[in-house]
Amino acid sequence: MNKHLIITLLLLFLSVLSAEIMQIRINDQNKDIINWLKKIEATEIRSFENGIEAYMDDEYLDYLNDNNIPFSIISTESEWQRNIGDYSTYDQIVTELNDIAAANPDFIELFSLGTTLGHQYYDTGYVNYEDFQYDIWCVKLSDNPQINEDEPNTFMVGGIHSNEPTSIEVDMHILLHLVNNYGVDSLVTKLINESQIWFIPLMNPDGYRMVRDLGYMGHRKNIRDNNGNGVPDGAVYESYGIDGVDLNRNFGYTYGGNPNTWSPAYNGTNAWSEPEVVNIRDLLRSHKFWGGITYHSTRQSVLYPLGNYSSAMAYDHYIMQDLAEDMANTIPRRNSSGIQTGYYNFEQANCLVASGTMGDWGYCELRLFSFTLELCWTDIPPANLLQVLCEDNLEAALIFLDRVHHSTVTGNITDETRSPVVAEIYVQEIDFEAGMTSVEPVRSDSTFGRYYRVLLPGTYTFTFSLEGYDDIVVEDVVVNDSTQTELNITFGSLTFVEDVSISFTGNSVELSWQLEEGFDYEVYSSDLPYSEFQLDLDGILEGNSWQKTISEAREFYKVRKIPSF
Ligand SMILES: [Zn+2]
Repeated sequence: MNKHLIITLLLLFLSVLSAEIMQIRINDQNKDIINWLKKIEATEIRSFENGIEAYMDDEYLDYLNDNNIPFSIISTESEWQRNIGDYSTYDQIVTELNDIAAANPDFIELFSLGTTLGHQYYDTGYVNYEDFQYDIWCVKLSDNPQINEDEPNTFMVGGIHSNEPTSIEVDMHILLHLVNNYGVDSLVTKLINESQIWFIPLMNPDGYRMVRDLGYMGHRKNIRDNNGNGVPDGAVYESYGIDGVDLNRNFGYTYGGNPNTWSPAYNGTNAWSEPEVVNIRDLLRSHKFWGGITYHSTRQSVLYPLGNYSSAMAYDHYIMQDLAEDMANTIPRRNSSGIQTGYYNFEQANCLVASGTMGDWGYCELRLFSFTLELCWTDIPPANLLQVLCEDNLEAALIFLDRVHHSTVTGNITDETRSPVVAEIYVQEIDFEAGMTSVEPVRSDSTFGRYYRVLLPGTYTFTFSLEGYDDIVVEDVVVNDSTQTELNITFGSLTFVEDVSISFTGNSVELSWQLEEGFDYEVYSSDLPYSEFQLDLDGILEGNSWQKTISEAREFYKVRKIPSF
């Protein structure tokens, strides 16, 4: 019996049972096939590895067979139905989060970011939403978890798409690894002590109930009552799910383009219309986040912004690409025929062009390294493979969490009264590259005046800009691969110490001056006595003296005094 006949018989058999959704791979990238997929409203159409993957109803497989288009079935709705019982329920997740929080109050804080839309419907009298009284739970991991410390913030989000439950399990697995290894493993201990890590394992609990508990395997959105019937309508493939907004199309940057309520990617009536999205936005705006990962499935890829522009690049493109590659290399790529080395890594637009996503909003508004990690080759693998998948993804998560702790320039920016200020931070070699997409500049935060610039090792020129003040330019900022480079900036009028003694010995210079109570000092230098003096980071400052090895023709120095904190 030839393969074609086997498939045909198999399909006949399946179609007798009932129509079902299938994840299909077509080993061809012909434009006509892509157009046909769009016409039949196949979803998640993505081109990679010289092929196309998409979700479609099995009734369309006849067309592929009739036209001799080679394809394979990656997974099916009935497999997902069989496997979903092995995945955690909302209640199990919340119990687990409460248990770890109760056992580790010294480094965990558990709190609700807010209620889900279904919960809000129920609270306003819609009785059919009684079973959706959910919260979006967030775990903050850090020493002194009750205090907002001046540390880098990183997020780890799962379950934004409710029919991608591996994203929830992997997120929980990473969380539990950190919790169980605090005080045991030196990297984990450092990450928790020196950063604030925010886990939101299940961002879309309402949608997850539709999938996990009610069996609507195609439901990836929340449960926005688009048809106004007061009932949560689950997504079966044929109707595309009349209810719900795709949370990952509802963010307010590059918003729009998915106006059909029945579409799995429906973007809602307006940006920020969904409470689940607003809750995450407010968290990310309220702390100094440098980056985070949102987990999805499938495609086995590490994706970085931008996602909405097929021909544009982020200023930080090469830095994000480098990180994505480091992460991707550690995750084995598996499929039914074996294991290969490494996930793919792409600028997101090269895999799937999408608007209103968390990735683009995070990067374009907040300049976060807002990564999308597409797990696995199938949405709902069986339990034994799920465990393997969780372990496969641990190292990449640790690489990401540690990234801000090396090859990064950071500091506090204040004015002359030493109050933190929201300044703009430009890196000449990064932010003035021609042809890049215009986005918001990197800013320091209002609480600490803290900024982070994650860079590749090298030497850079920084410009700090604050309204009402002259720009401060700092040249020769050295970034190395093993540590952070600290660069604190004080805006304001420059007051210099009047009497400074300068001595040159061999190839070193030493300055000293009278110490005054209540002041800190900075050294400025210039190669001409009347040209602009710049903050000089090359010397070593100790109390009332400063010393450096002279490597260039800078021979004029001034000592700035700034009131202490
Ligand atoms: Zn997804």
